[in-house]
Amino acid sequence: MAEQLQEFLNLIDGKRVASGNGEWIDSYNPYEGSPWARIPKCTHDDVDAAVASAKNAFHGPDWKGITATGRGKLLVRLADLIAARADELGALETRDNGKLIAEMSAQTAYLAEWYRYYGGLADKIEGRVLPMDKASRFAFTRREPLGVVAAITAWNSPLLLLSWKLAPLLAAGNTAVIKPSEHASVSTLEFVSLFEEAGFPPGVVNTITGFGPEAGAPLAAHKDVAKVAFTGGDMTGQRIYEAAAPTLKHVGLELGGKSPNIIFADANLDAAVMGAISGIFAASGQTCIAGSRLLVEKSIHDEVVERLLDVARTAKLGDPSKLDTQVGPVTTQPQRKHILELIEAGKAGGAKCLLGGGVPKSPELGNGWFVEPTIFAGVDNSMRVAREEIFGPVLSIIPFESDAEALAIANDSPFGLASGVWTRDIARAIKMSEGLEAGTVWVNTYRAVSFMAPFGGYKRSGIGRESGQEAIDAYLQTKTVWIETDESTANPFIIR
Ligand code: NDP
Repeated sequence: MAEQLQEFLNLIDGKRVASGNGEWIDSYNPYEGSPWARIPKCTHDDVDAAVASAKNAFHGPDWKGITATGRGKLLVRLADLIAARADELGALETRDNGKLIAEMSAQTAYLAEWYRYYGGLADKIEGRVLPMDKASRFAFTRREPLGVVAAITAWNSPLLLLSWKLAPLLAAGNTAVIKPSEHASVSTLEFVSLFEEAGFPPGVVNTITGFGPEAGAPLAAHKDVAKVAFTGGDMTGQRIYEAAAPTLKHVGLELGGKSPNIIFADANLDAAVMGAISGIFAASGQTCIAGSRLLVEKSIHDEVVERLLDVARTAKLGDPSKLDTQVGPVTTQPQRKHILELIEAGKAGGAKCLLGGGVPKSPELGNGWFVEPTIFAGVDNSMRVAREEIFGPVLSIIPFESDAEALAIANDSPFGLASGVWTRDIARAIKMSEGLEAGTVWVNTYRAVSFMAPFGGYKRSGIGRESGQEAIDAYLQTKTVWIETDESTANPFIIR
């Protein structure tokens, strides 16, 4: 008899609920290629209920009545609960999205730091007393929350991407409706239980699961949502921007990338090759910051290619729940199809496929949605494999001859999320970091993130920054209060 699927429910107004229409979506284990859980298939009515709950909580005394210091303490308490449950949450993510347990449990353990950091910032949000150019006027500013924030996230790192939004938005005093990807919602539904345990009032954090067009779209357009904080693909980001326009919502967009990872001849090649591997094969390439274009100075091109092949050939594909696995499956079947199509486009376009290029033949990987680690050499920056985000384990190597050429190729992209520079020359590192059109430049490292480091994209990679002190500003608005201290009557027909 088929195994019973585990059911996970949404959280609305502090209660666990299925969808109003009683329908469900199966959630798949990408390694086994079969469903293991089911989540509510929400529609417009469920979205209305979740937004109403968040709106009531925003205006209600239980949340408004908590001081900034009190909010900070709740976030720190939440951080402790996360740390205690990190392994369990990481294992759920691995089962749901197929990414390595080593990576997911490291991410879930690190999440706690976002709540600690923003917990500490909650009571450092300050207005200012303005010096004033007019006698008898006293004026000051207040920093106030926006209201209900819709947090819409992608499937590749559900809780990390969520926490980049949730920690600052709650520290600022907003409330939230979360819409995770339908491909990996389970960890989010488990995670939100911790809010009640930490002492957050009901309705401050709510969830909606379902398909993008049925649940995400009405949330992004909802009249009572003040801001949409989104992580996902650039085309979906564009649709959300359009959906938010009629009600003039605030919008934060963390979108895709086609990040250049640039190796100069003077680099420490051992470190640079490992940086290139981590940039593209970690997480099976399913990371927005994938260093999917490897720019290599011509004089070391062949040596770098040989070294890359040596490491990539021996990468251990397998069960993502095992600690020694290095490359797991990709998360969804449509995603695998998309990756394989782009690999074919690379071959047809004249790129030289040096490794991989298809689905692994090994029978023990047979049920999983695997793609072989793939390396293309001889790539021209105009080819599809160099321009489109593949979101899979596919590396395109592009040779260059000078710093100026490296910079020109790197910036010739619709995206601008991240970039890497490998060199021992500090002046070159500084010049490259000035010239690169990207929200992050890593020098002699790759794929590093921190709660204190602002993160976000140039160009089609997004709008706004997450993490760091400035992220909290994205969830606040400024009110200016004027007080007249002179009791005489002013001329009403001229501006004061
Ligand atoms: P999608 O853009 O397909 O989906 C992201 C989220 O939006 C999902 O929850 C999705 O729901 C929802 N959604 C889809 N359509 C709509 C709509 N019309 N209105 C509102 N919500 C909608 O991205 P993926 O989930 O495929 O994630 C991969 C992408 O995310 C890549 O491009 C990657 O680069 C990017 N990303 C960016 C990061 C960053 O910080 N810059 C970090 C991680 C990933 P559903 O899944 O149910 O369709």
